Amino acid sequence: MTAYQIGVIGAGTMGAGIALVCASKGHRVLLLDADRNVLEKAQAYLQATLTRNVEKGRMTEQEKEATYARVSPVEDMNRLRGCDIVIEAVPERLALKKSIFASLVTICREDALLLTNTSSLSITEIAGGLKHPERILGLHFFNPAPVMPLVEVIRGKKSSTENVNRVYRFAEELGKVPVLVEDTPGFIVNRVARPYYNEALRIMSDRVAGPKQIDRIMKKAGGFKMGPFELQDMIGIDINFATTESVYTNFFYEGRFKPSRIQQRMVQAGSLGRKTGEGFYDYSK
Ligand code: NAD
Repeated sequence: MTAYQIGVIGAGTMGAGIALVCASKGHRVLLLDADRNVLEKAQAYLQATLTRNVEKGRMTEQEKEATYARVSPVEDMNRLRGCDIVIEAVPERLALKKSIFASLVTICREDALLLTNTSSLSITEIAGGLKHPERILGLHFFNPAPVMPLVEVIRGKKSSTENVNRVYRFAEELGKVPVLVEDTPGFIVNRVARPYYNEALRIMSDRVAGPKQIDRIMKKAGGFKMGPFELQDMIGIDINFATTESVYTNFFYEGRFKPSRIQQRMVQAGSLGRKTGEGFYDYSK
């Protein structure tokens, strides 16, 4: 297997996990974030996760050290110049992602794959008007990236078939199960998931049941690993809300996708779930 140089932009919930997945398969990773504290947190996460893997006998101490050393934190996008593949994982905002790809097309080699981990935004729109849109695709990991096997490979209107095949192979080499999907709002998984969150939020706002009870029922009776409120806290309320907003807007305001005011207020209050210590549940302890 070829060892690539991979740039990961955004070292938050997803970026840190994606960096770990890539480094674990022998790739060199340049992990970029606009916030130095986030980079430090990401390195602490890598250390802690790799240490746990050693304790559980999944890798040796030497493999842990080598994997950790393959991830270098960086703060300047120009450092990604030599990358073979760049995976963007910044917040779910179209203008932000477009500006990052506009920079990447001028910084990176013409044959470098430029991938976005967007949950719902249009790959075609992110690539719109940029040079060489044939190399811009979606590669959508699920949370937590090192654990979840599925990845969606999303083909934008101008992505080339050759590059779709390259990304598909790359995902397989990472040990993931890729599924090729069309560039439609929310793709497959996040489209299917919207009613799961939205209906739970409606049940809550109708005061039929609270988050704890709904989560318990979905796990005990529905066989889900996590209930809809635990899941929103893990994903990040801001990310989940932005995804619903984008699916709603891009389906021309179909009522079934309408975002919830409960989530909107939580985002406004900065109660974003696990990452801020408070969401539907309290994580301060
Ligand atoms: P996050 O908020 O945890 O992390 C985003 C990071 O990007 C932050 O650390 C922020 O400092 C950084 N950032 C912002 N602007 C930047 C810039 N200009 N340059 C460099 N870094 C910048 O977000 P996340 O949950 O990791 O989500 C990232 C992307 O992955 C989103 O598109 C989201 O929809 C998608 N996604 C999220 C999940 C999930 O469960 N959280 C799952 C699948 C996909």
